[in-house]
Amino acid sequence: MGDVRALKCRECGKEYEPQFRYVCEECFGPLDVQYKFHSDINRDTFSSRKEKSYWRYFEMLPIANKNNIVNLHAGLTPLQKADRLAKEIGGLKNLFIKNDSVNPTFSFKDRPAGIAVSRAKETKLKAVGCASTGNLASATAAHAAVAELPCYIFAPSDIGHVKIAQALSYGAEFVAVDGTYDDANRVASIIGDSKGIGVVNINMRPYYVEGSKTLAYEVAEQLDWEIPDNLVIPVGSGAMLNAICKGFEELQLLGLVDKERDFKITAAQPHGCAPIVDAFKKKSDEITPVESPNTIAKSLAIGDPGDGLYVLKRLSQYNGIAEEVTDEEIVEGILMLARTEGIFTEPAGGVAIAVLKKLVERGKIDKDERIVCYITGNGLKAAEAISSALPKLKSVKPDAQTVLAMIR
Ligand SMILES: *Cc1c(COP(=O)(O)O)cnc(C)c1O
Ligand SMILES: [Zn+2]
Repeated sequence: MGDVRALKCRECGKEYEPQFRYVCEECFGPLDVQYKFHSDINRDTFSSRKEKSYWRYFEMLPIANKNNIVNLHAGLTPLQKADRLAKEIGGLKNLFIKNDSVNPTFSFKDRPAGIAVSRAKETKLKAVGCASTGNLASATAAHAAVAELPCYIFAPSDIGHVKIAQALSYGAEFVAVDGTYDDANRVASIIGDSKGIGVVNINMRPYYVEGSKTLAYEVAEQLDWEIPDNLVIPVGSGAMLNAICKGFEELQLLGLVDKERDFKITAAQPHGCAPIVDAFKKKSDEITPVESPNTIAKSLAIGDPGDGLYVLKRLSQYNGIAEEVTDEEIVEGILMLARTEGIFTEPAGGVAIAVLKKLVERGKIDKDERIVCYITGNGLKAAEAISSALPKLKSVKPDAQTVLAMIR
């Protein structure tokens, strides 16, 4: 099973016993989980498994005892070849959509939340919680419900009523903060530490981020153990992008994929909150926080991204690009994906599609590349974001002649 060896500081390399700790006491750097991987792990270990969730990779996840797994059967989502979208975007030859909008709570956040809540159960924490831009609220609350743990959500009050209703339904206590995500995060951090709450994306962050690396494992397995050429990833805090890179690197380390294989990453942000793109374009290694994010892509509205500097490092490590798109382009991206591939995404997914389209138009993406675009959340969660772009309905008498006369 998941054999955690240590927590290691991403900055200075100092190692700690795997306990309740999330920053380095020497340099305040973030801590990452290190494993004692068993050398008998091979492709078949996973490919032959019946478990149809990300828990099929449990040797690579930070839970020691299988009985502590809190399983909502998230993950192992479809990797869909997207030829119609590829054609519309401008003749891409090899485009795939990783459709993570079909998870149990309808976003990829079921991956990190499931790992963190399982870890909370394993370490016998009395309560869990999160700071959320919307989707993590439901993912944490649903897993907490199954684990029978109280759950505290801290989120901006403007995240959209569907996301609030969903989290409340699972029985969570919802603290709607009059402010930004960064405000909610600050409050959650203080309350988590003072009340001993396992705040999944703050004081449990080393474990939390491990869930998202399964987005790399699955794509590799679904492509017959090959790494794609280019990954298009929507970015808020940057934790997911980092975790996806870590996932591919671990597969390389274990020899499950080609160790020499080079790949590129593309970080996608909305214009109304693009601090990482701004830094990338200025070639700066400092990130200037966005004080009041203003975008329809609320799940990406993180003005002061916790893993922003590490996204910049990944971009230079992997020859990557960061690009931003306007609200209008995001809506266009959402509708294009729905129309061509039958996938209805929330604005974060529209950001990824619109950035891909922009980069293809500007000749920054080679049409022969094998590209995987991550669609991380479901459109039903934020349908209000596109309503103004949809045709206005007129109701009609239930009379066939009248209807025949009006339809195209
Ligand atoms: C949280 C979220 C993201 C961004 O993930 P980060 O780890 O914060 O970069 C992207 N898409 C959706 C749908 C999300 O909920
Ligand atoms: Zn350190």
